[in-house]
Amino acid sequence: MKKPLLEFTDQGIYCHPAKVYLDPWKPVNKAIISHGHADHSRWGHKQYITHDSNVPIIKHRLGDISVIGKKWGETFTINGVKFTLYPAGHIIGSSQIKVEYKGEIWVFTGDYKLEDDGVATPYELIKCHTFITECTFGLPAFLWRPQKEVFTDINEWWSQNKANGQTSVLFGYSLGKAQRLLKHLDPNIGKIFTHGAIENMTNVLRPLLDFPETERITRDTKKEEIRGNMVLAPPSAHGSTWIRKMVPYVTASASGWMAFRGARRRRAIDKGFVLSDHCDWPSLLTAIKNTGAEKVICTHGYTDIFSQYLRDLGYDARTEATQFEGESAELNVEPETSESA
Ligand SMILES: [Zn+2]
Repeated sequence: MKKPLLEFTDQGIYCHPAKVYLDPWKPVNKAIISHGHADHSRWGHKQYITHDSNVPIIKHRLGDISVIGKKWGETFTINGVKFTLYPAGHIIGSSQIKVEYKGEIWVFTGDYKLEDDGVATPYELIKCHTFITECTFGLPAFLWRPQKEVFTDINEWWSQNKANGQTSVLFGYSLGKAQRLLKHLDPNIGKIFTHGAIENMTNVLRPLLDFPETERITRDTKKEEIRGNMVLAPPSAHGSTWIRKMVPYVTASASGWMAFRGARRRRAIDKGFVLSDHCDWPSLLTAIKNTGAEKVICTHGYTDIFSQYLRDLGYDARTEATQFEGESAELNVEPETSESA
């Protein structure tokens, strides 16, 4: 039997004719990396190939690695297999990876979303035969509002807290979510302070994009300076001693999981804003339909329910086990290793 163009192995998604892995979870010789989140760009590969904008991100996260940057739409050939990166709209530098061999086209999405968030290069549709999709939020209950409305709510929340003499502590991933929040916060309301992990990552990205001014919270930052202002922090800062300096404060989390009421209550967060860097249910279905793919492989999220739904629609859909986490880590731990005060 002919081997599939991409196989799911113990090391990761493997392209046999090219001898290359896509977002492998074990150390390999050659890896094409979709984006900078820790579950997709892991440590220990001999060579990394990724989009130019992701190069500074993974260098910041992984240190001195051997990495080659590619542009959107730039095709490169390895052992006769053509690879091209296209924007995935998930976070800065996030790519879908198109794999083309002997007339057959596969697309691996990594993580993606269709809405233009004003930070990541917007998602681009690629026609293919087989579409490997995440489905982090692959349930009909997940339906996002336009981000403009969500940011209006976030800025109103901040204004209200300020009027009450309270500091607003807003939690989001230090890579991706934090910069999206920062980009759309209204600096006219007050100052924006940051946790060290967010400040460091944002500084890596400042040469690529304009962001409002921020100030890192250090040991020397006075409590009175922070009061009434905005503090951006990674989810792991919640419940840490670091946060005591913000008293009196109110907390909020910006995540797709905030669509679940219980998620906010369980974490003892005052306010939840439903804001995700992943597709919601209708976006997943739209993306899949528009690719024209007959075969769909679901990698992470509500894979069983979602692939069953696709089969009911007539797709040749299945689930493959991977070690990708989507946004699940956001509820508990920050997938960052370098956290300073
Ligand atoms: Zn991601």
